[in-house]
Formats: sequence, structure tokens, C-alpha cells
Amino acid sequence: MNYEILRGRDQIGGSCVKVTGDDGTRILLDVGMPLYDEEHGDFPFGMHQRPTQELLDKGVLLDIPGLYAANTDEPAFDAIIVTHSHLDHYGLAHHAHPAIPVYASAGTLAILEVNRIFQGEAAQPAVLRPLPEDAPLPIGSLMVTGIPVDHSAPDSRAVLVEADGQKLLYSGDLRAHGRTGYRFENLLKDERLQGLDWLILENTTRSPSASGHGYAREDDVENELVGLATANPDKLIAVMASAQNLDRVVSCHHAAKRTGRLLVIDVYQAYVLMKLKGLSDAIPQYTWDDVRVVFTHSQREKLVEHGLLDVVNAIARVAHVKSGELAAEPGRYLMDGRANSKIPKLFELVGRDHLELVWSMWGGYLKRDYSPVRDWAQANGLTLHRIHSGGHAWPEDLDRLEAALHPGKIEAVHWEKG
Ligand SMILES: [Zn+2]
Repeated sequence: MNYEILRGRDQIGGSCVKVTGDDGTRILLDVGMPLYDEEHGDFPFGMHQRPTQELLDKGVLLDIPGLYAANTDEPAFDAIIVTHSHLDHYGLAHHAHPAIPVYASAGTLAILEVNRIFQGEAAQPAVLRPLPEDAPLPIGSLMVTGIPVDHSAPDSRAVLVEADGQKLLYSGDLRAHGRTGYRFENLLKDERLQGLDWLILENTTRSPSASGHGYAREDDVENELVGLATANPDKLIAVMASAQNLDRVVSCHHAAKRTGRLLVIDVYQAYVLMKLKGLSDAIPQYTWDDVRVVFTHSQREKLVEHGLLDVVNAIARVAHVKSGELAAEPGRYLMDGRANSKIPKLFELVGRDHLELVWSMWGGYLKRDYSPVRDWAQANGLTLHRIHSGGHAWPEDLDRLEAALHPGKIEAVHWEKG
């Protein structure tokens, strides 16, 4: 077997690795969207959904013969394996020929389904299949095994490919310091990973430019939120995070509980958590006594348009909290919210003097041109507290992994050499 790193050797994002068996079986591990253009600028919103030929012309899509529906009748690939639901790993997979099946974990597939509802009529891969749980999937001569890893996307996988007496491990994105950090420790002693020929390993935090990844551990996030909520008993704590970051919503829930507050989520996040319920009993649900849900018109409409009025009504019946209630008793709540253009309206209602704002995502997002929460905080003279812990293993954990697996060759990906 052999492999080729098609993108990701010298950038964070746009991940794509090709693996070929001796019998000609070909698969791709991730078909990700680059995070920035050639001048390091932002892509326009929804760029990955532009037509295939346009993205090929712009170099956003790699020129891979036999991959795209737009320029081949005979696909040259047998499968695509997606490690997790971050755009820079799966975002271009739907441009592939519809005859090529796309495999991913149950949690990743659930997120793709949620995205189909909330991101307009976003194109999705034609054939999505579940990657078997911790068991090998034969694809031609290749045996492909998804191995659960700790990361900020739900139910992420590393991928082991075995064939022709050789073994390759592609890490996807991983870390040791999240709430499922035991998965990282499991990798170190996983018998299947002994005798690796190649380890293709994410090196995000080894990038010279690495910054904005925050506190050392997810536990620190919870403790910092407790400190902030305790110091500001009469204010709403509004945490800006990804709705799909399960560790973060658990941290928010714990911090709310520890300070006698109710956790507030939006209806989009309530739906995400409902879809991921099967992954763990620790994932907060709208049915819990200490969870409330705010409704925004656009989120509600998207669920209704997709025939989910029953779900909307069920959530509203048990958990609905009005923004006026948040404004009336801000100290009663801790919110895990979205940093979108709608949320400043809620901040206005609560009032700047009754609000502590927390940025709980990668710091790099704050440098983007479009950042309505950053702009609102600046305009209102409010500090944006930075309380975050990133999705990527720290250099010392990468060292531990390399030492434990001692593969024949290590390839660094998902990093910038600077
Ligand atoms: Zn990721």
C-alpha cells in the first residue's frame, strides 16, 4: 500500500490523504475545505457549496483525477472516510462522484444531518454510510478501522488502514485534555496500533503561529466559568461557543449547576444535543430540569420547514424561556450561545450592565472581518473574557503519542511550519 498527502502538509485545514492498495483500491481520508485562501484571507460564507468547476478553477478543490462527478463518469475511488464533522475535514466531500460512498461515525453523520436542516439546502454527500464501531471495514484490499478519539467535534475518529502487511494511522484531529481524554490514553496502549509503518499526525499546536488555543484542559474552562459567575451573581453569563462542541456545553452545564443557575441553550443547540443523545448520558438535554431553551425565529422556521414542528412544540412545552425572562433575572442564567448577527439583540435587551460576555472558541475567529459579538462588545465597552480550551493535543501529548507508537515514519499534517 502507499499514501499521498494531497493537502495539509503545510496548512491547518483542507485535509486530504489518498491511500492506495497494491490491488489498486483507492480511498481518501477526509476531503476538507481549506480554512483560508492563498493570501490568508477569509473565504466568502458558503464557499464550499459553490459549483465544482468554479472551486476547481479557484484551486479550492484539488485537481484529483477520477474524483468529481463534474468531470468523470468512472470514479477512480472506492470510498471516502471522514474523520469528523469539522468543515476543514469533510466540507468538500459532496463534490465527489455520487457513486463513491462516504463513511463516518454515527455522531458525524448526525451532525451532517443537522447541518442539512440549519444551513439552507446545503449539498451533502449522496451516499453516507456508518463506519463500523471499532471494527474493521473491508474496502477492496484495504481494512479500514475508525478509532474513537477525543476532539472538540462529537464522535471523532482516527483511521487505521491495514493492507499488504502494512499499517497506516491517520490521526484526524485529536487531543488528550477533553472530557473523553481517556480515549487518547487508550491509543497509547492499543495493540492494533503497534508496529505502525506510518503515522500521519496532526501537529496544530506545534505550529510556530499556534495561539488562541486557550486553557490547558476542558476542566479549566468549567472552573473559570464558575469563577466568573460567582463574581457576578446578578449578571447573565453569555458564553459564545460552537453548538456542536459537546464538552463545552457540559462545562457550561456544570458551571451553571455549581453556581445555582439554569443553563440556557438555543433551539438549534437543543436539536443538536437531542440528535447526539445516544453518544453519552452526560450530554445535556432540553428535558432536564435545569435546562432552558431560547427560540429565535430563523432557527424555529428551519425546523418547521423540515417537518419538525412536533419537535419544536415538544421543546417549547417543557423548556421555553423568553428573552424578557433572561433580562428580568439575568443572574439566574448561564447561556451557551451562538456568536451570530442575531444575538446582539438579546444583549441589548439584557443591557450591558447586566452581562458578562465570554468568548469560548478559537481566538483566531476574533481576527476575522465579520465578528458581530466582538464588534458589539467593543461598541459597548465590554470585555470579552477569553475562556476556551482547544481541540488539539498539546505538544507534550503529541510527544507521548509518538513515543508510545514509535512508527516507522511520522508525517506532520494540519500545521504551518511558519
Ligand atoms: Zn477538527
